[in-house]
Amino acid sequence: MSKSVEREPNTVSADVVIVGAGFAGLTAAERLADLGVSVRVVEGRDRIGGRSYSGEVAGVKVDLGATWVSRRHTEIRNLASRLGCTTTSQFAKGLNVLWMGGERSTYQGTIPEISTEAVEDMGRVQGILHELLSTVDVEAVWESPEADRLDAISFGEWLDQNDAQPGTRALMTILSKVQWGCSPGDVSLLHALRYIRAAGGVSHMLDVEDGQQEERYAETTQEIAMRLAGKLGDRVVVGTPVRRIAQDGSGVTVSTDSEVINARYAIVTAAPAHRADIEFEPALPEKGEWLAKTWRMGALSKAFVAYEKPFWRSSGLSGEALTDTGTVFITFDVSPDDSGPGILMAFCDPRVYDNFSPEARRDRVVRQLVDLYGPQAGAPIDYVDHCWGTEPFAPGGPNPAVPPYASGSYGSALAEPHGRVHWAGVETAGEWAGTMNGAVLTGQRAAEQVARQLGVFK
Ligand SMILES: Cc1cc2nc3c(=O)[nH]c(=O)nc-3n(C[C@H](O)[C@H](O)[C@H](O)COP(=O)(O)OP(=O)(O)OC[C@H]3O[C@@H](n4cnc5c(N)ncnc54)[C@H](O)[C@@H]3O)c2cc1C
Repeated sequence: MSKSVEREPNTVSADVVIVGAGFAGLTAAERLADLGVSVRVVEGRDRIGGRSYSGEVAGVKVDLGATWVSRRHTEIRNLASRLGCTTTSQFAKGLNVLWMGGERSTYQGTIPEISTEAVEDMGRVQGILHELLSTVDVEAVWESPEADRLDAISFGEWLDQNDAQPGTRALMTILSKVQWGCSPGDVSLLHALRYIRAAGGVSHMLDVEDGQQEERYAETTQEIAMRLAGKLGDRVVVGTPVRRIAQDGSGVTVSTDSEVINARYAIVTAAPAHRADIEFEPALPEKGEWLAKTWRMGALSKAFVAYEKPFWRSSGLSGEALTDTGTVFITFDVSPDDSGPGILMAFCDPRVYDNFSPEARRDRVVRQLVDLYGPQAGAPIDYVDHCWGTEPFAPGGPNPAVPPYASGSYGSALAEPHGRVHWAGVETAGEWAGTMNGAVLTGQRAAEQVARQLGVFK
């Protein structure tokens, strides 16, 4: 893998240029290379992996971005195991902590049993949601029979219309912050339904056992991407933002600050909002331009706090907590084992986090962990965090926070090729949109589309 330096742009040739070295781009590159197609992968960030990024706390590697896989995420699992990466179970033994309305309690399972009424209300709202889910087509949500109606309101407005009670609302707000990096009022109901259906339903989305949080990778998910990039060698360059993609009848010219690449096709894996940073010649059709303008990215931040031991385990706590106020809104135990270090991963709301100094951020998180886990949480041995919304290049994540009208109006431009420019990236996925598994599937799909054009795949 090489890193670009500032100089007059070199001219390079390849059959296919791939923009982005996340799971979609790297998968597309591997598939095409296996078919004998020459590829060049250009990544704007200084690192491989996109929204998979590792950090370190108390000497343990942790996932600052994507973390978990479910048993049903077969494509990313196959890729990881082929590259020698191993899953580890998400620790979930013991009671979870709930901090709601300023009061602390404990509960077992996914849904907190605040009261019989609260559990019934959650079941009622999930039931109505379930019926709506069956009406949307994840492959083309904008063609769903009720698309216009469902896209005209936000998920939050829908919760209001259905008289969701405070407990249900709090849980759906947490789901929304984790999934779209925004509050339910900031995301279109149609977009929310698409992602919930693509993720196998609300329960699969929220659960640890048999759900999306069941397992994570001991080596971290960025390591999977690094190993894949390692296989591709010099075909991958980092620190090379693509500025312009021009095309004519015979091929594409992809311009970066350090090289101009002549190729027959391009596959762009940047999230829709980041397509707007590339100048296309000829310009994207109107729908494509509006897609890039309206599909803004959500934002989410993660903190990891390390202790000598996972002390909460000996008090019968799982390290999983849900809270409705403050910076931290959910925690998980990602300690390597019982012997230590103990590590709590905390999802943080960027609105009360990202703009503070590193010391203030740490202080806010640790104080909240003391509320949740007691005074021992006040003596961490290490801390690391990451704010996805304030990254200098291609900021945002985990997923786009698409407002009302933008999903139904412009969604059809997600994967529609623009001449010789094809699109991949997790946003273009049907099934498993929003996950690494979805990203891998789109890389495979786009590679095969282009390979067909090149006549090397049927
Ligand atoms: C905090 C967080 C938690 C998550 N948790 C999970 C989880 O637990 N499980 C799960 O399955 N998924 C999770 N995800 C989602 C998962 O990370 C993504 O779905 C997946 O990694 C997307 O892969 P991708 O290749 O489609 O996009 P990306 O990883 O975003 O890759 C696209 C690449 O394109 C590059 N790029 C953009 N514009 C340009 C340009 N002009 N020139 C060159 N390069 C460019 C970007 O820098 C980026 O590296 C999480 C994401 C975040 C942020």
